[in-house]
Amino acid sequence: MRPPTDPHPATGQLFASPVPPGTGWPGDPATARTPRAKDADDVVRLAAAARSLADVDARTSVCRACPRLVTWREQVATTGRRASFADQPYWGRPSPGFGDPHPGLLVVGLAPAANGANRTGRVFTGDRSGDWIWAALHRAGYAALPDSRFAGDGQRLDGARIVPAVRCAPPANRPTPGERDTCAPWFDREVALVEPDLRTVLVLGGFAFDVMLTVARRLGWAVPSPRPRFGHGVQVPLVTASGRVLPLLASYHVSQQNTFTGRLTEAMLDDVLTRARALTHP
Ligand code: SF4
Repeated sequence: MRPPTDPHPATGQLFASPVPPGTGWPGDPATARTPRAKDADDVVRLAAAARSLADVDARTSVCRACPRLVTWREQVATTGRRASFADQPYWGRPSPGFGDPHPGLLVVGLAPAANGANRTGRVFTGDRSGDWIWAALHRAGYAALPDSRFAGDGQRLDGARIVPAVRCAPPANRPTPGERDTCAPWFDREVALVEPDLRTVLVLGGFAFDVMLTVARRLGWAVPSPRPRFGHGVQVPLVTASGRVLPLLASYHVSQQNTFTGRLTEAMLDDVLTRARALTHP
């Protein structure tokens, strides 16, 4: 029996959930022939062999290396959908990075949301946290649209790229250290590929801050010692392997926990993005 299908909110095309690669989902970077990582060793091998950002996007989007996260993302996509999205297909796969393939600014988040990017297939898309970051990216002149509702909505990033540090939705928004480390080679490879264009990195939250400093060390970049501590507005001068200074800026995460409580305001987010823009285009 064929699995049940639902219409995509932008195109009306019917999709099974999780979405099989190469079946026409807007922006799907993979095909049925894209190699799949089944464990941590596969991630290391396939990430190292990815020759382009397109390769990284495609390969991450079909990765199955973390059993707990694969089970969770597919369970949410099938029997665990939020009631308000019950008639929509769920992507149910890892969320690759999104945006300009030659970004001056790299924005790093934590991980996809179960009913956000895990549903829409695009990072920070279709949830409240995303509403905040996309509106701010639009005000800063990076995003074509002030919101990001679903893949195929015409959203575009010029001069910036946004990427989750861990690419599958974790239960309770909390990946384990092992899952973080298993996913790291995808992020390492992505950062290495965009590094020649990068001028600034903006991290959202302490988790992304720590991951980015660790990636920098693995890539042979200089990180100040003692290791900098996360805080909103903190700026860290990283030095790439070629000796170029690359500022890392930190912001509180755009989680509802922060935005509902006023810990992070629109003005604070705009300030940090204005600084990021000035550093990227001096
Ligand atoms: S979290 Fe990363 S390594 Fe783990 S299954 Fe998802 S994409 Fe693969």
